[in-house]
Amino acid sequence: MVKAEGVHKSFGTAHILKGIDLEVAPREVFCLIGPSGSGKSTFLRCINHLEKINAGRLYVDGDLVGYRQKGDRLHELKDSEIALKRRDIGMVFQRFNLFPHMTAVENVMEAPVQVKGEAKAVARVRAEQLLDRVGLSDKAKHYPAQLSGGQQQRVAIARALAMEPKLMLFDEPTSALDPELVGDVLDVMRGLAEDGMTMIVVTHEMGFAREVGDALVFMDDGVVVETGHPRDVLTNPQHDRTKSFLSKVL
Ligand code: ADP
Ligand code: MG
Repeated sequence: MVKAEGVHKSFGTAHILKGIDLEVAPREVFCLIGPSGSGKSTFLRCINHLEKINAGRLYVDGDLVGYRQKGDRLHELKDSEIALKRRDIGMVFQRFNLFPHMTAVENVMEAPVQVKGEAKAVARVRAEQLLDRVGLSDKAKHYPAQLSGGQQQRVAIARALAMEPKLMLFDEPTSALDPELVGDVLDVMRGLAEDGMTMIVVTHEMGFAREVGDALVFMDDGVVVETGHPRDVLTNPQHDRTKSFLSKVL
């Protein structure tokens, strides 16, 4: 579903991603951990076409979306192609970014109606089903300000799912939540995993990574330091940098 080969990304003179190699299989729950500033969000943004890579190859859902190797010409997608590809990728951020002037159900309906041109009545029924799936069928008519952070984040997940994505990217989805609200969001994500959704999850929730994750990557300073099964990486890290990071977060 995603394959990175020597992916580099710089912002001006700041070299952020320094040759990322990794592979995410369909239906896999792929967890990404690492210190703040190591490039995790930047990498997700590259996958989601929000940033262009400077070197290497990046495949998303079988398409080569960006490459620049010696001898290759730079492959650039047109904006219209990027817009189409981005429809297949759902993204959930630390901050929920719901439209404040729309109810929960309207937030979930928005993209299918505006982007896909779905009929409102059809989109509403599906949005209600999705809210039910994230445990919020009774909150459909609430505005974001009337919902807790955890409920808003679950609406945000339902909104991403409304576009029927092939891949879901989660960027620290529970980091902004009060501790008692984290569990409900992780339960929704666990349910998605059980339904076979391909997911890349940047998280500090090591319990989730251990129980739900199929693969765990530890990133530091723009490189992949260690990859493995979550249980192996978490209980028996091989690299000093991984050990030092885990000793701080576990
Ligand atoms: P992480 O998500 O692992 O905390 P980020 O990918 O957000 O790390 O950031 C990695 C580094 O890239 C940081 O030093 C950050 O300041 C820098 N960075 C991210 N986006 C930009 C940008 N648009 N312009 C300049 N620097 C950026
Ligand atoms: Mg980040």
